Amino acid sequence: MLEEIELVCDAPDCDRVLGEPAFRLALTTPVGTRRVYECTCGAVTITVSRE
Ligand SMILES: [Zn+2]
Repeated sequence: MLEEIELVCDAPDCDRVLGEPAFRLALTTPVGTRRVYECTCGAVTITVSRE
């Protein structure tokens, strides 16, 4: 199990907490799984989690 991490928007003038990924899309790479989150401000945050 991964730790619960509170994700916040990457935009410098926005600190909204991000919830569910924007897309049912998880890109698995050798270094981890990338997920895309889209904030209501329009910024996109991409995370990489090791599994
Ligand atoms: Zn935002």
